Amino acid sequence: MKTQKGKLVVVSAPSGCGKTTLIQRLLERNQSLVRSVSYTTRLPRTGEVNGRDYFFVSEDDFKAKKAADFFLETAKVFDSWYGTSRDFVLEHVANGKNVVLAIDVQGMKQINQKRTSNKLSMISIFILPPSPDALQERLRNRKTENAGEIDQRLREAKAELAQKHLYDFQVINTDIDRAVQELEEIVK
Ligand code: 5GP
Repeated sequence: MKTQKGKLVVVSAPSGCGKTTLIQRLLERNQSLVRSVSYTTRLPRTGEVNGRDYFFVSEDDFKAKKAADFFLETAKVFDSWYGTSRDFVLEHVANGKNVVLAIDVQGMKQINQKRTSNKLSMISIFILPPSPDALQERLRNRKTENAGEIDQRLREAKAELAQKHLYDFQVINTDIDRAVQELEEIVK
C-alpha cells in the first residue's frame, strides 16, 4: 500500500500569543503530528533545552549550513537567524507525518513559494491574541525579555498582525482549551 504523504502545518503568531503552549498541547493529543525543531543563533532563554526547543548554533555554523542548502527556509528575526531543516521536514512528510512548523511570516512566505517544486502540501494558521493589550501583558509577565526587547517584539507583532490575511486559518487564543480544539479540527 502506498503511504500517504504528510502535510506541513505552518503556525505563526506574534511573540506573547501563547503559541508554544498551544503547539505543545496539540502535539500531545495528536500522534500523527511532529514538530520541526528550528535552528537559531539566538541564546537560549532560561529553561530552554538544546535540541528540544531549538538547536542553538553559532552564527558561523548557521551561515555554513545556509550555504550548504541545509535549510528549507530561513529568516532574520529580532537580530537573530532562524531556520528549518529541509531533511527533517521532507523525511517526515515522506513517512506520512504532518509536520508542525512554528515559524514567522517571512518563513511561511518562503515555504509557500517553494511548495510546488518540493511537492509539499501546506496549511497555514495564524494565532491571534485576544487583544493588543493581552499581548503586551503576556510579554511583560513572562519576564524573559528586557523593556527594549519587549518594545521591539510589540512593533514586530504589529507588523505580523497586518499580514494575518495571508494565512488559511486564524485562531484567537482567548481560551487555551478552545484554541487547541480549533487547531485540532483544522489539522484533521
Ligand atoms: P523566539 O525567539 O521568540 O522563540 O521566536 C521569535 C520568532 O521567530 C517567532 O515568530 C518564531 O515563530 C520565529 N521562528 C522560530 N523558528 C523559526 C524558523 O525556523 N524560521 C522562521 N522563519 N521563523 C522562526
